[in-house]
Amino acid sequence: MTAAAMPETMGQLRVFFFPFMAHGHMIPILDMTKLFALCGVKPTIITTRLNAPFFSKNTKNLGSEISLIVIKFPAVEVGLPEGCENLDQIHSDEMMPKFLKATAMLQEQVDHVLQECRPNCLVADMFFPWATDVAAKFGIPRLVFHGTSFFALCVKESIGLYKPHNKVSSDTEPFVVPHLPHEIKLTRMQLIPAQREGSETDLVKLLSKISETELTSYGVIVNSFYELEPAYADHYRKVLGRKAWHIGPVSLCNREVEDKAQRGKETSIDEHQCLRWLDSKEPNSVVYVCFGSIANLTAAQLYEMAMGLEASGQQFIWVVKKGENENWLPEGFEERMKGKGLIIRGWAPQVLILDHEAVGGFVTHCGWNSTLEGASAGVVMVTWPVFAEQFFNEKLVTEILRIGIGVGAQENTTKVASGIKREAIEKAVKRIMVGEEAEEMRSRAMAFKDAAKKAVEEGGSSYSDLNTLIEELSSYHP
Ligand code: UDP
Repeated sequence: MTAAAMPETMGQLRVFFFPFMAHGHMIPILDMTKLFALCGVKPTIITTRLNAPFFSKNTKNLGSEISLIVIKFPAVEVGLPEGCENLDQIHSDEMMPKFLKATAMLQEQVDHVLQECRPNCLVADMFFPWATDVAAKFGIPRLVFHGTSFFALCVKESIGLYKPHNKVSSDTEPFVVPHLPHEIKLTRMQLIPAQREGSETDLVKLLSKISETELTSYGVIVNSFYELEPAYADHYRKVLGRKAWHIGPVSLCNREVEDKAQRGKETSIDEHQCLRWLDSKEPNSVVYVCFGSIANLTAAQLYEMAMGLEASGQQFIWVVKKGENENWLPEGFEERMKGKGLIIRGWAPQVLILDHEAVGGFVTHCGWNSTLEGASAGVVMVTWPVFAEQFFNEKLVTEILRIGIGVGAQENTTKVASGIKREAIEKAVKRIMVGEEAEEMRSRAMAFKDAAKKAVEEGGSSYSDLNTLIEELSSYHP
């Protein structure tokens, strides 16, 4: 529904968005607010003081269309350093429970915001399961945003219900995830550590609370499109009985170079310099390597990556996190790779890079945003999952969509990738870039690129689902 199409008598629908404090959640929610604003909805984002500039920088051009409400993050109160308000600042296992505790303490402030402002709907991240009850107090429907695929939601649900991982005798013995449309095998090693150990950590308790609130909330909003994973979009709704709307890929709302370049954190490379470098390359001749906003690589792994990329003979853009000391750099690597490989230290304009015709491959950690952005750009992927539900996304890419090759990562860790040898990297990169198999994967990937574009255009599946959702919310009565 365009703004013009919204009945005048309806009044402006006010939807509040409350993203988890991590860029993999903040970025798609910001895109989502832009989509809602285009439909004539008045979006407001609730966030904390130090995360607020991220949203204000990215909504500058939208004038007053998107509002911000700033609340206080109780970092010091839970024993975190002052100013620690984002998941990318969590560098040890001891900090994580404190971070989650601080997010739980936001309940009172959100309660107050809802009481004061009485929006028509609250879209709150899955990490705030309490948001459903808080919204219900004021008769406000709450939508859950997980930030992952239908496929991963279905796998998670099946594992939670049937616990197939408890029926194998070792962490490496594969088990079948029961009652899914395809036969999917995983190992306990690929589940998050607390889950495979069966320990009742705060995180495990939170995950089960999240599953419960999926059922008591108004519904689930999914950043995906029907044509990408139809069997799982149907399974989630019809077999698992969830009410869901797919409205993605939300990244496609960034159409201009400037929008794509500004998406996310401040980029560490001038976008025009980056585009000039890519413009000088042949179509599908560059591999883009990036591990998202959180995952790190050990120094030894960075070294193996450099050696593997060089041995693959392929041109590349490689994003390395700032602050990772540079002792890992093989001697003379950058000089040898001059013109052939570009290292971006810090933050890259990912969507801008993936959308360039010179880019044909993507070495990814399988965060859902990156996976979806890769599929929407028609690139073939080397999958290298590290943590969270990334091992599930890998299965979707390699076994169901068949647009990627696994590098051989086996263990779900706490955000640090290691243990993959240069030979495996070289082999996987070559397989996605050259030869008949690569061509076949590329033509499937290109079909998904077309389908993604159609899904968000007028009349497309995501466009229609978004409009249906807005219409429903407009006529909602508690
Ligand atoms: N991203 C980016 N530049 C970077 C690193 C990440 O633009 O240098 C963006 C990427 O496009 C994606 C998000 O950050 O939208 C990362 O989300 P994802 O779910 O892939 O991984 P996470 O960071 O949550 O592990």
